[in-house]
Amino acid sequence: MTIGYNTFEVRIDLSAIRHNYRVLCEKGSNVYGVIKADAYGHGMERVAKALENEGANTFAVGTIGEAVQLRNNGCEKRIISLVGPLNEADCLDLAENKIIPFIGSFDQLDLLTSVVKKKNLDVEISLKFETGMSRLGFNTDELPALIEVLKTIPQIHPVMASSHLATSDDPAYEGYVESQAAKFKYILKTLESAGIKVEASLANSAGILKHNKLHFSAQRGGVALYGSNPLIGTKWEDFGANLKPAMQVSTKIAAVRELKKGQSISYGCTYTAPKDMKVAIVCAGYADGYSRGLSSKGFMCINGHRAPIIGRVCMQLTAVDISSIPDVKFGDTAYLLGGEGAGFITAEDLASWWGTITYEIFCLLGLSPKSYI
Ligand code: PLP
Repeated sequence: MTIGYNTFEVRIDLSAIRHNYRVLCEKGSNVYGVIKADAYGHGMERVAKALENEGANTFAVGTIGEAVQLRNNGCEKRIISLVGPLNEADCLDLAENKIIPFIGSFDQLDLLTSVVKKKNLDVEISLKFETGMSRLGFNTDELPALIEVLKTIPQIHPVMASSHLATSDDPAYEGYVESQAAKFKYILKTLESAGIKVEASLANSAGILKHNKLHFSAQRGGVALYGSNPLIGTKWEDFGANLKPAMQVSTKIAAVRELKKGQSISYGCTYTAPKDMKVAIVCAGYADGYSRGLSSKGFMCINGHRAPIIGRVCMQLTAVDISSIPDVKFGDTAYLLGGEGAGFITAEDLASWWGTITYEIFCLLGLSPKSYI
């Protein structure tokens, strides 16, 4: 993040996020707003308030620290921490702030148990199960032992159960998604038979939008809230959702100059002009989260047109070819994300040039100070 810029602007459209939440709610019931990692770079507190105004009553954040910050900011809704407590301080924080942690191992359960017993606390938890992601969560064969242990800790109340889909974004992996759903159903049935009644969630954005059969009593919507299509190889129209992009990133042009045929530009002289060209030097670089991997690959949007990046992206400057764009001047706006006209840059465009996913783009570009509309 570049400090003290008055040119670099990350602008968040909260009405787009509210619209996207409404769309997700039309597709699936009881949608938790996933606002971890500073709401994927969009600003956790502002996004939570916007979603509350749309009736959201449950938020999922990444860590107990984020959950405490959200609570301290006045959020009175249910807050889930997708990574549960890792030490005693986390356990005390979650109890004091009525945060519902994901608990996905006996290590974690033992930690929480020791603290609630020692301090005589009462907490609600969300049980996390492993069904195919192989990341966090109790294995299915641990269920009987888990049920037995839970009976012995009346201070710990399981109110939710969840698992996370590994491949819901990819149509090539339908079978894998279904096997995860089948395992999750078995887990829920077993909990129910043991008298443990929980709210259950499996679907993420892709699951909410595409896989009705993955809908349980709650869903966890993340990236779609921010207007990004999580389903590989599809357009919004393909599944009847019209989501709106919420993040626009722009900056200013510091110089407009001529590049003579044979003249090189930027570090390493990796780009040499094949003809006489006109270039703009734009105030953005990898210090702003604009990846050096975009060197000679990506585009910016200037005056409604696509301007190709030429040469290496620098720390706070990037050169673009404006030879075919009329009337570009010093001080004009260049859009890294969003923009206007045919040159509009979607998060999916930027992700494909960058060689990553929209999630990462939002998180990195969203590290800079934001303004809101
Ligand atoms: N649930 C969990 C456990 C997650 O880690 C995430 C995001 O990575 C989500 C839900 C939301 O996923 P998405 O952003 O694809 O909707």
